[in-house]
Amino acid sequence: MNNTNPYLQFDRQMVGDIYTSQEVMENLTVLCDEHGSRFAGTPEEYAAANFIAECFKRYGLQNVRLEAYPYAGWTRGTATLEIISPIHRTLHCISLPYCPAGEVAAELVSAGYGSPAEYSALGNAMVDKLVMAKSASPPALGRWVHRKEKFERAVLGGASAFIFLSEHPGVGPETGSLQNDNPAPIPGISVCKEDGEFLARLMARHGNVTLKLQTTDINEPRTSWNVVADLPGHESSEEIVILGCHYDGHDISQGAHDPASGMVSVIEASRVLAAYAADSLKRTIRFIAFGTEEIGLTGAFRYVEAHASELDNIRFMLNMDAAGGTSRKGIVLHHWDTLEPFFHEAREQMNAEVPVGQKVHSYSDHFPFFLKGVPSSHMGDAEAPPAGRGFGHTAYDTLDKVQLENLRAASAVGARIALRTANAENFPAKRRTAEAVQKIVDTDPGLEGYRISLKLKQ
Ligand SMILES: [Zn+2]
Repeated sequence: MNNTNPYLQFDRQMVGDIYTSQEVMENLTVLCDEHGSRFAGTPEEYAAANFIAECFKRYGLQNVRLEAYPYAGWTRGTATLEIISPIHRTLHCISLPYCPAGEVAAELVSAGYGSPAEYSALGNAMVDKLVMAKSASPPALGRWVHRKEKFERAVLGGASAFIFLSEHPGVGPETGSLQNDNPAPIPGISVCKEDGEFLARLMARHGNVTLKLQTTDINEPRTSWNVVADLPGHESSEEIVILGCHYDGHDISQGAHDPASGMVSVIEASRVLAAYAADSLKRTIRFIAFGTEEIGLTGAFRYVEAHASELDNIRFMLNMDAAGGTSRKGIVLHHWDTLEPFFHEAREQMNAEVPVGQKVHSYSDHFPFFLKGVPSSHMGDAEAPPAGRGFGHTAYDTLDKVQLENLRAASAVGARIALRTANAENFPAKRRTAEAVQKIVDTDPGLEGYRISLKLKQ
């Protein structure tokens, strides 16, 4: 199809630069190899925030700053899991973020895949027991079931502790927080797939299996930071488009794919937009590196609180969490039907593979914006079936697994979409009312986990 591309000159310059530069991989190397996991509350996190701010300054962005906020900090302690009956054995395990320190000895029960049906079938059999669930989503349910939903159903069922079993062989235990910005009411730990299978065999052969779990984690208040930088618009500096990604990873990992591949793609988009589009920008593009996402989307929640008076002026928010990984570089809209034709046209202009779809979930930094009614999206593939994390959230999410081509593709799509959303004369979406948001929250099947969180808070 032959169609005119009003952004052709910018596209050639920005995309040409991205595909002839190593900068995005160099930035990934600094984030992962020099600043490590960048886990919330660590010196590495603060050093990474400053590195990102330096990149933004070096590329010519304005108002570059770290915005500090308090949050519920958590530090991993050693966790011990012992089988005390019918045999004696110690298994390797790790605490999950927001696990409290404690000691629990109890019988083990299995919630299988942790589907709503499996939890209701357990019923009172969960009370005061150690409940285990696999990380895999229930095969027949047709939706992803997040770890937090499985944990919270165990808490609501009266469990005394929770064990998360990885679904992937050979990658060790999978981490991930139990709660958002809040110490968990009961301990939760994770074991590798191989030990999970062993526990399941033991239960099948012997019926009753009793375990003792000890955790020593520290929960205490701390400070974290969002990094914010602007490329000002010349027609309106108040109306803004946001490109964001978190920079914190999990403490057991480099977090190279999740999130750093997305973070460096945001930084790379800022570099080429500043170099080639700054003088022609009609509205402001704001780049945000969110802190503390992995343990509660806390940086993003604090951002929307601190910037409440500006939310009407956010034209569009694109969350690029882990976007430089292997998934397709599409635009996944959060119930914004009126925006589909806009992005279809953008895709035609760009001559790029950019699947456009609709699907919202509550487990990344777009969600606080979605809850405030801001037109929001994330980079990904709305058509992809529910899948596990693979090496994600394990010690094996390392830089060697990230492909330069994927970083380039994510950076290019991010920069081109940001330019088009900032410069469009008529952008067909406006902030939703609280009532309209509530209606989606109450009915969207993909937000079932969020509804369970609200139930637990009551
Ligand atoms: Zn992430």
